[in-house]
Amino acid sequence: MKYGIVGSKGKMGREIMEYFSSFGDECVVEKDVDHFVERDVPQLIIDFSSPQGLKESVELCRKYNCGLIVGTTGLTDESFRLLGELSKTLPVVQSYNFSSGMSIMKEILKAFREQFKDWDCAMIEIHHSQKKDAPSGTAKMLKEVIQRDLSISSIRVGGIFGEHTVIFSNAGEVVEISHRALSRRAFSIGVRRAALFLLTKEKGFFTYEDVLKGVD
Ligand code: NAD
Repeated sequence: MKYGIVGSKGKMGREIMEYFSSFGDECVVEKDVDHFVERDVPQLIIDFSSPQGLKESVELCRKYNCGLIVGTTGLTDESFRLLGELSKTLPVVQSYNFSSGMSIMKEILKAFREQFKDWDCAMIEIHHSQKKDAPSGTAKMLKEVIQRDLSISSIRVGGIFGEHTVIFSNAGEVVEISHRALSRRAFSIGVRRAALFLLTKEKGFFTYEDVLKGVD
């Protein structure tokens, strides 16, 4: 496939290009701050940049009439408004976490949140020291799944790719549900799966769970 990437010089941008190239996919548009390369017309745009970069990704999708995959976190109401607008005419896949283990963790929490409703609940998320947003997009997403008010502790240290632990505790016991990404490959595998899904859609707003279910 021919794709474009916004945030091409970033950690995820470089990881995605490396992983996609192992399938012979071609990065034909690269965009970063003060950097724009256009070799061909892409079939989709992948955005791992910033909320500001996302606006530019939406413009590129309109220019090339192609779909968009959004992995960027820290999105605002305005970002979601832009994505909603774009999805009326082109396909959009947005997720704060493209790892399949995190999707399983969400399912586990959905299945058991009722049993834990009388227990205290808190969350700890740990990421590398350059991560800009806190709490992480994934932590916000997990909070929505748990459907209750809970405190989130964000730790920024070293080179950690992403760890999320949900802690349930009562006076006598503790249950912890954890996910840890061992490399950025955990995300790029999901991004490519989302890309193949996106190419089968004409328009609409999709989550990574839709991708995994292969929703029509
Ligand atoms: P990074 O800082 O290494 O890379 C971001 C890149 O985007 C940088 O090169 C930066 O210059 C570029 N950028 C910023 N604003 C831009 C703009 N206006 N136009 C063009 N380029 C712009 O960060 P990263 O670790 O690669 O992560 C990027 C984003 O992806 C973050 O929001 C991060 O939280 C998110 N992320 C999401 C997932 C997921 O599964 N959804 C996984 C990892 C990271």
